[in-house]
Amino acid sequence: MTTHDVDTLILGARFVLTCDDAGTVFENAGVAIRDGRIVAVGDVSDYDASNTIDATGCIVLPGLVNLHTHLPMTLLRGVAENVDLQGFLERVWAEEARIMGPEGTYLGARLGALEALLGGTTTALDMYFHPEAAHRGAVEVGIRHAIGPVFFDFPGPDGLEWEQRLDLARRWPDIQDAIGGANVPRFLMPHSPLIVNPEHLRDIDAMAREMGARIHTHNSENQKEDDATVAAHGQRPTMLLRDAGLLDERTVLAHSVTLNDDDQAAIAAGGASISHNPGSNLKLASGAMDLVGYRDQGIRVGLGTDGCSSSNDLDMFAVMRLAANLARLVHLDPAAISAEDIVRAATIEGSRAIGMGDRIGSLEEGKEADLILVDTRAPHLTPIHDPFTALVFAAGRSDVRDVFVAGERVIASRQPTRVDAGQVMASAREHVGSD
Ligand SMILES: [Zn+2]
Repeated sequence: MTTHDVDTLILGARFVLTCDDAGTVFENAGVAIRDGRIVAVGDVSDYDASNTIDATGCIVLPGLVNLHTHLPMTLLRGVAENVDLQGFLERVWAEEARIMGPEGTYLGARLGALEALLGGTTTALDMYFHPEAAHRGAVEVGIRHAIGPVFFDFPGPDGLEWEQRLDLARRWPDIQDAIGGANVPRFLMPHSPLIVNPEHLRDIDAMAREMGARIHTHNSENQKEDDATVAAHGQRPTMLLRDAGLLDERTVLAHSVTLNDDDQAAIAAGGASISHNPGSNLKLASGAMDLVGYRDQGIRVGLGTDGCSSSNDLDMFAVMRLAANLARLVHLDPAAISAEDIVRAATIEGSRAIGMGDRIGSLEEGKEADLILVDTRAPHLTPIHDPFTALVFAAGRSDVRDVFVAGERVIASRQPTRVDAGQVMASAREHVGSD
């Protein structure tokens, strides 16, 4: 028998959930990683490595994909409470002018990336002003971070006029490449069809096609937003996006809580994906998105946290449980969706939504090694009859022990390997002037 040398061997895992198309689950198994890629999953007894990770008692699964967030808004955690989306935006935008310049954005993104990685999120689809500062901060901590220029009609806290936003977009590929980090697609990010007018939406579509960029936008977050959009532009948000050419498979639509039948049909026909953010939707009382109904229409749905000023944390385990329970409540059916489908939404479906389904989101030979180890040796995870049920309904983010992004161990035994957690927290506290 020949032994093959690899860089890292994860050995003796209680379960390996591959999230491949067949839903393959291995028991007492491992993963072999070389040059950042998975070379074997399951039986890895033919492999040898100087770096071995003992995964006894652990569930190994693909890293979680947070499909809609605003990482820098960790600095605004708790500033706008007990208000709806509109009240929330009013308070948050005032605070942003005070603390969220490039430095605050950088520090908030570092803190957010650290919180996300510690909780098992390996990829975040972000959106924020000063995307260069956010990208630099998040990449430093080691997360796979997708962001791009954000667009709205008026100068926001970043003070940019429309032409300056277009100019930043033209320069974005060079900026992203210069910062480096784990490779992600390019994105342009119109904030929402409410505050980006139809002509500007078409400008963004044209530029995205020219650059080969994908799209991340908010859509139909609540009824009031729908009403305001119709009043301002004469159509519902989804229809404005459709008419601008933006509903195809390049696009991730955050929220999409209050879609009518026509909206759903248009999204299914176009191929855009939805990020379901139940933590934010429940807390702001935006509404109960129909995860199961949308899936039945053929719409791809991944999961996200939204920013910390609306959902208050970046906990994808909480999101998985909320999504599962909300779907059951909406349909008054305890079998509305399986725990396995929830885990798939948080991994492979989110990866496909950002155009990375062939590279990450499942544990298969040749894919990039984005994976997490969840330690089940705890009373609340004893016994385990089904690993997916354990992850969704009993595990929490603090059970995540190790995190790999592109084969690099960025969290080792619950500690970041690239940054000092105490320093990241201290610099964030100092910037906002709080304890
Ligand atoms: Zn959002």
